[in-house]
Amino acid sequence: MKLGVFGGTFNPIHYGHLRAAEEAREALSLDRVLFVPAGNPPLKSGDIADSGKRYRMVEMAISGNPFFEVLDIECSREGKSFTVDTLEELQGRHPGSELYFILGTDAFLDIPNWWMPERLVALTHFVLLARPGTKFSDLPSSPYLADGRAMIDGIDGVSGHAEVLLTSGKKAVFLPVTPLAVSSTEIRRRLRTGLSVKYLLPEQVESFIISNKLYRSDE
Ligand code: ATP
Repeated sequence: MKLGVFGGTFNPIHYGHLRAAEEAREALSLDRVLFVPAGNPPLKSGDIADSGKRYRMVEMAISGNPFFEVLDIECSREGKSFTVDTLEELQGRHPGSELYFILGTDAFLDIPNWWMPERLVALTHFVLLARPGTKFSDLPSSPYLADGRAMIDGIDGVSGHAEVLLTSGKKAVFLPVTPLAVSSTEIRRRLRTGLSVKYLLPEQVESFIISNKLYRSDE
């Protein structure tokens, strides 16, 4: 079985996330995409909704898609949770399955700064999303690309997705997704200033935000 794993803060989830996950599922023929909302940060910041509420918003947003599932692995844990632990737990739950960790290219380049990066890259394939305004060929190299820079030059011209080999023997799939320049940051900014967020995220999620009075101020 091929399992997509889509981690994120989802503060809140929006159509950019949903469309990217759907395109990854289709392009890679994933059997399922597992959304894993991050837990609460150790130091509570006013701008981040409680993990239970972020989980609930993901649950509502994906309810119509039989291939999507939300997991509370990270948000039910107290304190900081590490991606490597989440992936190991998923590997244990689904022995024999191949994991495809879906993330933006910016996040992929940051992996050397994550907890136990070498162990993490050995556990999973990667699906790298080009967010609007990002070109793969503009990316600095990553220490995990088996042939370094040379491999990602020319990828932008390729139609559809392109695969490169990682030093771990796993692969990274560069996936150009429909550019939806929606971000959670912009949604929160609009809510703070009383502007509409209609059509940027599912209606149910919008209603939940309004009835729970989320993202109203930085307090
Ligand atoms: P924000 O939307 O505020 O920028 P973020 O991207 O910093 O949020 P998350 O909510 O954790 O943080 O996003 C989860 C993943 O989804 C990240 O890997 C991010 O790169 C990707 N992502 C977010 N928005 C989009 C989008 N509009 N198109 C494609 N990928 C996206």
